[in-house]
Amino acid sequence: MESELAPHEPVDVQIKRDTGITISFADGMVAEFNLVEVRLACPCATCRGLRDQGADVWPRPGSPIPLRLDDAEFHGAWGLNITWNDQHATGIFPFEALYKWAKGEIGFRSDSGLGEIPSPTELKAQAAEIAQRHADIDGENA
Ligand SMILES: [Zn+2]
Repeated sequence: MESELAPHEPVDVQIKRDTGITISFADGMVAEFNLVEVRLACPCATCRGLRDQGADVWPRPGSPIPLRLDDAEFHGAWGLNITWNDQHATGIFPFEALYKWAKGEIGFRSDSGLGEIPSPTELKAQAAEIAQRHADIDGENA
């Protein structure tokens, strides 16, 4: 039987609240998304605005660390609406954008002229830099 699904449509979404999201796409590609990188790529207007100001999208002052995913729901058939453990819940991640991201392309295009989403390479670098910062803090507390 031929599939009616577009390549970027999800056939399975696995949520690991502390580490990441694994999506199986209709074309057979299985992609794992790092939680921090997903948060840093948040396409909502608030996060776009923060990026425009050169501010960190996460962690924000008072953000619980480590980052956790509290809830994820399908937004219609086209996206994933994520609620984070700091109650930030305005980001809807289109599956088409996540699919492009998994292929190393910039999945999220700014639709408003505000806050361009970083490239997958930049997101990885930012997440590593934040992890390093937290490791340093943990080291000082030890
Ligand atoms: Zn956001």
